[in-house]
Amino acid sequence: MTLDKELKPCPFCGGAAKYEKIRESYDLEEFIECAYCGAQMSNYDESKGVEKAWNTRAYNKALTEAQERIKELKKENIELEKLAQQWHDDYKAITDGTDVIAKQALSTDKDKGE
Ligand SMILES: [Zn+2]
Repeated sequence: MTLDKELKPCPFCGGAAKYEKIRESYDLEEFIECAYCGAQMSNYDESKGVEKAWNTRAYNKALTEAQERIKELKKENIELEKLAQQWHDDYKAITDGTDVIAKQALSTDKDKGE
C-alpha cells in the first residue's frame, strides 16, 4: 500500500515525501511527511485522501524558479530606476547651469567634436 502512493515533492522545500499509515485502536491515521524539512499532512479529509491533498500543494520547480526570477528582476528594476533618476538629476543640474564644471566639460567636448 505504501509503495503505490505516488507523492509529489514537498510543497515547501521540494524534498522527497514519505507516506505512513498508523493504526491506533480504531482510528486509522495516515501521514505524509517530507523527509527533508518535516512538513506533514494527516488524513484530515478522508473523502479526498491524504495523498491527493498533499499532491495538490505540490512543489513546482518551474514556478518557484519563475517567482525567484521575478523577485530578482524587481530588485534590478528598483536599482535601474534609481540610476535613471540620478542621471536625470545630473542632466538637469548640467542644463540648469548649477553644475558649472560638468557644463564646461560638456561644452569643451562639444568644441572638440566640431
Ligand atoms: Zn519539505
